[in-house]
Amino acid sequence: MRTDNRDSLVYLDNNATTRVAPEVFEALRPYLEELYGNPSSAHTFGREMRGAVVRAREQVAACLGARSADEIVFTSCGTESDNWAIRGALEMRPEKRHVITTRVEHEAVRLLCERLERQGYEITWLEVNSEGELDLEALRAALRPDTSVVSMMLANNETGVLFPVEEAARTVRENSDALFHVDGVQAVGKIPIRLSDWQVDLFSLSGHKLHAPKGVGAIYIRKGTRLPSFLIGGGQEKGRRAGTEAVPYIAALGAACELAQKFDGHETIRRLRDRLEDTILETFPNARLNGTRDRAKRLPNTANISFSYLEGESILAHLDEAGICVSTGSACNAESHVSSAVLRAMNVPYTSAQGSIRFSLGRYNTEAEIDYALETLRSVIPRLVEMSPYDEELRSLAARGRN
Ligand code: PLP
Repeated sequence: MRTDNRDSLVYLDNNATTRVAPEVFEALRPYLEELYGNPSSAHTFGREMRGAVVRAREQVAACLGARSADEIVFTSCGTESDNWAIRGALEMRPEKRHVITTRVEHEAVRLLCERLERQGYEITWLEVNSEGELDLEALRAALRPDTSVVSMMLANNETGVLFPVEEAARTVRENSDALFHVDGVQAVGKIPIRLSDWQVDLFSLSGHKLHAPKGVGAIYIRKGTRLPSFLIGGGQEKGRRAGTEAVPYIAALGAACELAQKFDGHETIRRLRDRLEDTILETFPNARLNGTRDRAKRLPNTANISFSYLEGESILAHLDEAGICVSTGSACNAESHVSSAVLRAMNVPYTSAQGSIRFSLGRYNTEAEIDYALETLRSVIPRLVEMSPYDEELRSLAARGRN
């Protein structure tokens, strides 16, 4: 059992959250200690805090390739940014009651849209194919004069599959006057973003996915795009988002964005992920990749792999025992086994979806950690295969040598 020693944890769950980078912590620390003023205060101390917020806004804008820092508004998390984008669009033009989104969005968008549907809004759910890819022709066909907003993610949190948002933005712009919202939460810090070149109106991000703390996010609101405030109260953020600014966390998000921009280890992460993924797929006859095989269309840090006929929860528990953190694509309790909505939308067979594991790497992972994860899997998977009630199916997969 290695989980009692956090220094020795092998953390392969960076799409769930990331470690606060030491550089980010140093940027945050003074605002939790001596720099406690309120940025709305008229005195010099308050002005100093305003300076910190201005600087962070510029750092976030630079990381997103936004044209102007004024296009960035700080929020409390990615979920708030997503909810604000969609609800704000609907509130601004109440006569437009149609929303387009996809079947594989994060709950922050998916469950909100399900609720809107129950409230009488019309939602078009765009399907994905078995590799998790979107058909832009279906998007074009779904656009209507009463479409208020199109919301889609840039990178899928479970599979890492990238949606072609630049092209989707063009499709939306050319065929409708709907707003185009992108949930960029999983993409920022992992792939380059150039919002000034994309025709995206609204874009969400979240601090804790890129080495800032949990509890801070931002939304990009393209210049000229009107979005009614979501939180009503004081005049912070130029009246766009009420609530005293979380200066320590805002400073941290700014520092994290700057760190992300300077990061030059993407190729290392990609190489480690590729090795982990390739070795698993070669080693275990019941392993299959979830998401496109075209790695250019996937985040460089994510590998979602199903171990068919095994329980993801058991694999997770064994890896956990060995101090390795991953996620599963299923939620089990005594009464039910629910596989992930994303994998269901991709028509991944139930017997594979139940055994899916998401490995998501980050800047602190090492070659030795990947070796250790592979070595652990080599001992865990055959043991679980032995115990599986689907031994016939597993034997036949092994005989065929492939899934
Ligand atoms: N959108 C995506 C794609 C995510 O992966 C997440 C978090 O996992 C969110 C939104 C929500 O972000 P937050 O945890 O900051 O609310």
